[in-house]
Amino acid sequence: RAKSEGRNLYRFFEPAMDAIVQARRALEVDLDAALPRQEFDLDFQPIMNIASGEIIGAEALMRWHSPARGNVAPDAFIPVAEETGLIVPLGEWALRQACAAAASWPPGLRIAVNVSAVQLKSGGFARSVISALAFSGVPAGQLELEITETVLMDESKAVLSTLRQLRDVGIRIALDDFGTGYSSLGYLRRFPVDKIKIDRSFVRDMGNRDTAAIVRTIIGLGNELGIVVTAEGVETEVQLDMLRDNGCEEAQGYLIGVPSKAADIQRLLKARALRSQTG
Ligand code: C2E
Ligand code: MG
Ligand code: MG
Ligand code: MG
Repeated sequence: RAKSEGRNLYRFFEPAMDAIVQARRALEVDLDAALPRQEFDLDFQPIMNIASGEIIGAEALMRWHSPARGNVAPDAFIPVAEETGLIVPLGEWALRQACAAAASWPPGLRIAVNVSAVQLKSGGFARSVISALAFSGVPAGQLELEITETVLMDESKAVLSTLRQLRDVGIRIALDDFGTGYSSLGYLRRFPVDKIKIDRSFVRDMGNRDTAAIVRTIIGLGNELGIVVTAEGVETEVQLDMLRDNGCEEAQGYLIGVPSKAADIQRLLKARALRSQTG
């Protein structure tokens, strides 16, 4: 009886399943064609030092302008690119593009680039990063690579040695979306991490007492360990004040600046640098 019910259920869902599989395959095909067709570009979102109010750099965020699909959000296409392996050449493109943009910023500003676990585990990642730096002329100390906790979860020796190699040349490593994954404090001990980025879901809910306690604890942890803490998704003055009061070093979010085109961020960074020179 159960068996025949299962069969009926399957027959009922089969057309829907087919449609999902086909839509997914079509997305993969479009995504594969998008890199040679130059449908990707990068936005840059400023990051601020809370105490001084200075912009200290920007994060590169990938954008896909598909002629057929319109603008597709990274959360919709990055996971697919990770599964097909396209993220390796796509990520390398982003890194080179981001470094090229940062090369024309005022000196000393930092460029942050998101890196997928798949890239880190692919052979030759450290070499490709170092070559992107050399090609652009951006000093290693100005590049920050944002990884998520999933990268650290499998505890592979290869990942650890890649991260060490990158850090040895002066590149900084940031843990993105901190607090959302299987956060293990052990990671902070075993892996070389320079920065943690508090996920924006915590910043959003800071009005809640328990969430505020979590944010304070993350900031305290960072301060104790000598790890810079950046708050993501800062949208209100109230949030910024709370972060400042709790000793959070850096903030990023719509309040400070939305992700913008390379030319616009360059203009903003130059104007700021000029203003701080002339006082
Ligand atoms: P992320 O690295 O945590 O980036 C921050 C996300 O928060 C960005 O979404 C940004 O637009 C958004 N955001 C910034 N400020 C605010 C705010 O005040 N409020 C709200 N509600 N959102 C804010 P985006 O651009 O859609 O990117 C989503 C995710 O896609 C990124 O999260 C990152 O994990 C991934 N991603 C983006 N570009 C790349 C890339 O080049 N390579 C890889 N591997 N992943 C990327
Ligand atoms: Mg990020
Ligand atoms: Mg994040
Ligand atoms: Mg994210």
